[in-house]
Amino acid sequence: MSGRVRRDVRVEGVVEGVGFRPFVYSLAIRLGLAGRVGTDINGVFIEVEGPSADVDDFLAALERDAPRLAEIERVTTVATEPRGAAEFTIVESDVHGFVSPDSATCDDCLRELADPADRRFGYPFINCANCGPRFTSTLTGFDRCEACAAEYQDSAGRRCHAQATCCPDCGPRLRLVDQAGDPVTESAALLRDGKVVAVKGIGGYHLAVLASDEKAVGALRARKHSADKPFAVMVPTVDSARELCEVDDAAGGLLTDRRGPIVVLPRLLDATVAPSVAPGNRHLGLMLPDTPLHHLLLAAVGAPIVLTSGNRSGEPIAHVDTEAFAQLAGIADAFLTHDRPIPVRIEHSVVRKDSVVRRSLGYVPEPITLRWHSPRPILACGAELNGTFCLARERHAFVSQHLGDLANGDAFKSFVDGIEHFQRLHGIIPAVVAHDLHPGYRSTKHAKELTGVELVGVQHHHAHIASCLADNGEPGPVIGVVFDGLDDTGWGGEFLVADLVDFERVGHLVPIPMPGGAAAAKEPWRMAAAYLDEAYDGDPPKGLDVLNRNDSHWHDGHSPDSPVTSSAGGLFDAVSAMLGLRDTINYAGQAAMELEQLADPHERGEYLAVISGNGPLLISGSDLVRAAAEDLLAGVEPSVIAARFHNGVIDVIVRCCAELRDTTEISTVALSGDLFQNVLLRHGVAEGLRGNEFRVLTHSRVPTDDGGISLGQAAVAAARDRR
Ligand code: ZN
Ligand code: ZN
Ligand code: FE
Repeated sequence: MSGRVRRDVRVEGVVEGVGFRPFVYSLAIRLGLAGRVGTDINGVFIEVEGPSADVDDFLAALERDAPRLAEIERVTTVATEPRGAAEFTIVESDVHGFVSPDSATCDDCLRELADPADRRFGYPFINCANCGPRFTSTLTGFDRCEACAAEYQDSAGRRCHAQATCCPDCGPRLRLVDQAGDPVTESAALLRDGKVVAVKGIGGYHLAVLASDEKAVGALRARKHSADKPFAVMVPTVDSARELCEVDDAAGGLLTDRRGPIVVLPRLLDATVAPSVAPGNRHLGLMLPDTPLHHLLLAAVGAPIVLTSGNRSGEPIAHVDTEAFAQLAGIADAFLTHDRPIPVRIEHSVVRKDSVVRRSLGYVPEPITLRWHSPRPILACGAELNGTFCLARERHAFVSQHLGDLANGDAFKSFVDGIEHFQRLHGIIPAVVAHDLHPGYRSTKHAKELTGVELVGVQHHHAHIASCLADNGEPGPVIGVVFDGLDDTGWGGEFLVADLVDFERVGHLVPIPMPGGAAAAKEPWRMAAAYLDEAYDGDPPKGLDVLNRNDSHWHDGHSPDSPVTSSAGGLFDAVSAMLGLRDTINYAGQAAMELEQLADPHERGEYLAVISGNGPLLISGSDLVRAAAEDLLAGVEPSVIAARFHNGVIDVIVRCCAELRDTTEISTVALSGDLFQNVLLRHGVAEGLRGNEFRVLTHSRVPTDDGGISLGQAAVAAARDRR
């Protein structure tokens, strides 16, 4: 045969566990080509030979028609001598490459789910090679029936080599604990009746109530001890999402994304959700059903439901049946559960149109590709609140799901178990371990207990900027602006000149006492008192409510021993408390978030903060507090004050960067830290900087809060290892 050629092809990316080998196999068979396909540590390898034109068709189809869950990063092709191979084979291998994340139910499966003639009609665990659980659970303990085994073997079908293939005869079963009747129908009836139902989801138990029922949502809050942290809402369809929020094409795309995220969207004024779903918030977190069970349930309820993590406030999501029954006994009125185990605890991801707020289900354990390699395998242990860890090898970083507050024992156990699981999954044995410098973080302590590894301590705010650099594939140096929440690190309103290896502190907010130390992080009125003291030289005006409300406590906390902090979180807390939003908080970042929600987006006025200092630049946050206090005493609307304060912070960040550009000649700015979850602040600063001809880097692949710290630590450790 003339024109016979052979190609060695290498496909890198997420190609493991997504039906890629069967896809390659059936493609080769269809085109009558010979050769083989297999996986190894670097991805999929293919040897293919046949007539030149057919091999070209094969290569073209390889990327164009790849399975839905495959994320192809790179295809390389080398021409070799034809060997006269006669058939095409799949090489069995057990080497672990990239494991695919879990995926929301695909359209083909939804069609079968709704088709009375299909043998999986109404079956809540339907899935195929293009959708279903991957990372979170396996079907060990269930033996495929004959019909399923045949589908599993059929190279032309949608369930070829799909591990979780099952059906009503051989797969998991749904039940509503201690209740007769159809579990879905009965659960829907309970929900419509205002009851709280615990639902076993893909990565753990959730608690559901009817979203329009204030009494039910209120009861859920009271039982969960969650006062006002926003709840997410699951809507049956994109159309029903449009009745609650502004949903444009981009938002619609995110809602129907196979990752099944919660999408934070501007809520409509006439949205029919109970006030307790997201008190004081101009936004709502919406999601579509992401499993067949949720599709069936939402169709049966016919209305949006609140779907929130199955836990008491502050604890991680329950994922083991016995634990869930014990933990949620006083919260849920009923349990909709099944016998498929969930070995890995994971919560829904949360996204905005331009950023990831919480990177978990659907993303993890997909790698983040780095621009530079790590000479040795790295484990980065992350921070404490919003804990994540990261394993890095070569040019790939595997960032864990959001693990919550590692001060919590269960969360810390997930952290330790998760590291072990990821090491096995990706075949990585770390030689370098990066950690925060904070000695009290459990992640730091864990790192220091490891033996036979090289430890690399990374300063927290440097890790934030390194994370933003890694997120953008940039080496620096940049001007890094880290506006972080209030904690006991002493920093958090920082301007750094940084690259991946090192940093210098070139500016910060003027440090202010934290009256009562750690208590100040939970009681924003304390920072208001401290800032007002500073702004008025110890003699703040008498008419300010925040001081009158807390006068007696203030004297206890007002000691010369108070630690000081330059945290921007403390500044936002102070203004929030002054405006009467709240004196104490129920979850981290709440005061600053409510201040953002209060701000009138149309107000253009701004407060002016003075920049001084001949060393690091010093920014006077108390100037902003004084201006806000004067407006408040003059009777200006709190929403206007909140906006002028935001505009003032934006203005001073931009001016500070401009001064630093004059001295450093660096004109790229990286923004990171908790406070840049604040959209008004992030967009305002980015716009202001771009208007002044800066390049601006923000986070898009990992969160800007401490959830991104582990990636930053890994990037720093790798850069230092390359030197
Ligand atoms: Zn499917
Ligand atoms: Zn079956
Ligand atoms: Fe931080």
